[in-house]
Amino acid sequence: MQNIIIIGAGFSGTLTAVQLIRNSSGQSINVTLVDRNCDMGRGVAYKSDSKNYFLNVPAGNMSALEEDPNHFIEYCKKYNKKIVPSSFVSRAIYGDYLEQLLSDNERSLDGQVVITRVFGEVISLSAGNGTTPPSVTFKDGKKLTGNSIVLATGNYPPQNIQIFDRTFYLNEKYANDPWQLKTTTIFDRTVPTLLIGSGLTAIDICTSLLHKPGNEKIYLVSRHGLLPQSHRVSLPTYKTDQFTKPILDGLKTLRAQLRATRRQIHIASSGGADWREIINSI
Ligand SMILES: Cc1cc2nc3c(=O)[nH]c(=O)nc-3n(C[C@H](O)[C@H](O)[C@H](O)COP(=O)(O)OP(=O)(O)OC[C@H]3O[C@@H](n4cnc5c(N)ncnc54)[C@H](O)[C@@H]3O)c2cc1C
Repeated sequence: MQNIIIIGAGFSGTLTAVQLIRNSSGQSINVTLVDRNCDMGRGVAYKSDSKNYFLNVPAGNMSALEEDPNHFIEYCKKYNKKIVPSSFVSRAIYGDYLEQLLSDNERSLDGQVVITRVFGEVISLSAGNGTTPPSVTFKDGKKLTGNSIVLATGNYPPQNIQIFDRTFYLNEKYANDPWQLKTTTIFDRTVPTLLIGSGLTAIDICTSLLHKPGNEKIYLVSRHGLLPQSHRVSLPTYKTDQFTKPILDGLKTLRAQLRATRRQIHIASSGGADWREIINSI
């Protein structure tokens, strides 16, 4: 019997559990899905309170199942017939979708795979040796052992900005990770707000601030002063399958993949296509 512990039940951990269920081919597997939050399946990005935040990828490119590219669209259509592949839907809906995907697959279990959900924060792990199995230790001192451990703990929170006066970090009006706090309560539109960075998170925070009473200015500061580029409204016309699979899969480093992507964008744009079509195909 395989005992697999997955630490982190965000997108990656949840999908790992789903794929273990779908590909067990009759093997007996015990999967323990661990998360420190009770909102399993959602992670930082797709929390249930993220209704006013939107996916940054069109719905048609967000299927969680590679073999079924329309899977997410079909899910959305049950709730809103107007959703099409080019729609941008709320991140909370995507979290609902991931939760549903996990529970649907759990329901279809044939008894060979057992999923156990555990709430708790893992603080250390051991890879084991010839005599002791791999194990994880929780904040409350409990331990779990398994044959394999999957780390799906997501991104680390952002670092503090590097400034001379570190007492600044203690200021209650400063937040180094907007996703770790209730942004709706800390930010106040009755005083000016300074956002360091002008990428997707800055846009999310602006959206949240614009819903608040008050009309003080919001400043965005970044090294290059660039805002995220918008998506194209129309669907791709350029056939990109030829590019992504044979070319990118054969390249071992990110740098080589970046170069190949740039080259392909150049070729595609000289044929009248848009660079976004190449990016969307990856
Ligand atoms: C605000 C935001 C919006 C995004 N929007 C999009 C989007 O629209 N489209 C897109 O494709 N991608 C988006 N992303 C990227 C997104 O993060 C990834 O697509 C994906 O969700 C990452 O999945 P993950 O499983 O690696 O991490 P996460 O989903 O963050 O999951 C990590 C999980 O591990 C748990 N965990 C961490 N440490 C421990 C521990 N020690 N013990 C127990 N549990 C632990 C956390 O509680 C969390 O649930 C967004 C990211 C953010 C932050």
